[in-house]
Amino acid sequence: MTESPMVLVINSGSSSLKFAVYAMERRHPLLSGLADRLGLEGATVSFKDESGKTVRDLKEPTHAYALDAVLEEFAARDWSGSLAAVGHRVVHGGERFSSSVLVTPDVLVELEAISPLAPLHNPPAVLGMRVALARLAVPHVAVLDTAFHQSIPPSAYLYAVPMALYRDYGVRRYGFHGASHRFVAGEAVEMLGLDRAGHGLVIAHLGNGASATAVLNGRSVDTTMGMTPLEGLVMGTRSGDIDPGALIYLARRTGWKWDDMDTLLNRRSGLLGLSELSNDCRELEAAASSGHAGAQAALEVFVHRLARHIGGLAMSLPRLDAVVFTGGIGENSARIRSMAVRRLKPLGLSLDEQANLRMVGGAAGIISEGNRPVAAVVSTNEEWMIARDTAELAGLTRSQ
Ligand code: AMP
Repeated sequence: MTESPMVLVINSGSSSLKFAVYAMERRHPLLSGLADRLGLEGATVSFKDESGKTVRDLKEPTHAYALDAVLEEFAARDWSGSLAAVGHRVVHGGERFSSSVLVTPDVLVELEAISPLAPLHNPPAVLGMRVALARLAVPHVAVLDTAFHQSIPPSAYLYAVPMALYRDYGVRRYGFHGASHRFVAGEAVEMLGLDRAGHGLVIAHLGNGASATAVLNGRSVDTTMGMTPLEGLVMGTRSGDIDPGALIYLARRTGWKWDDMDTLLNRRSGLLGLSELSNDCRELEAAASSGHAGAQAALEVFVHRLARHIGGLAMSLPRLDAVVFTGGIGENSARIRSMAVRRLKPLGLSLDEQANLRMVGGAAGIISEGNRPVAAVVSTNEEWMIARDTAELAGLTRSQ
């Protein structure tokens, strides 16, 4: 048994269960891993800690066996008595949840009722919660990707379609990546010495999924993702914004059905669709440098859309103190950041080339010249944010 209470963070998907274990004084997990290929043949579970990585076969390819394997590992490390709370990542909290919440039977029922809004994501998360609740008699907390954005005003979240669609079907913009945007906003305020009660930020979370958010005094006031995580920026395989008229046209012209459109826009578009090469930014940068026209076009469209959205989000704020880059691309790609910041001149930003090149691999700091607004890089840590919320709601720590 270890001295300090531990928090287990679970991200339960349809065919995977990701986990991480935190001792609350440390931002880095003591142990993390992934149960993969659940529901399929050849399911495995991996464990990673400071001493390396091990992979084992799972007895049965189910979420229950996956969690049992994690708990066996806990027991083998003599940690079972130290586990004090479990945090669950949940994609969609609809309009019901505007902050993280202790999981009760009523909360599970409410999350199930929201499932039609995220049919691929919420049901496995609820399944993961049920499996964990049955095994672990400690407080469980749900941390919702949408919750941070519930402060967005109706002018920013309503689509200009008949209001009955909002009332009857919940058609509106919800926004996602909430844990990341909230964490990065907090880190940026600290790092830049901003007033907690008087700041305006645009956070660009650029990873395989990408979204940007306008944050005013710690609250989200606008964001690029919409009713689903498909709207907004160009992503690895997701299109981001597209004229719905193009889809109507394609459906009429080709006879494609909605499932075909779903695959097209979520899996075959974005950087992959544009480049006809890869969804991976690093690979595209290398290809663009050796003259691959598709890779070059993909990066240019990515940056154009990004700059346009950052500019738009700045207009949702009464003041702009910083544009903050995060996520795998935002934290590591000096090239994308350089291309983007150059486009943000009308906002008063100019790039510090040398500082920009230094900010890779987890380094955080300012990459622009001059005073406010600044461009900066911050490393995101969604799982740590989930662990923090969980510890707080479980009464292990005080609010930060
Ligand atoms: P994430 O989803 O946050 O893990 O981000 C994944 C994306 O970050 C992929 O497109 C990677 O190619 C990209 N990425 C990671 N490292 C680099 C790098 N050094 N340069 C450019 N892109 C990178």
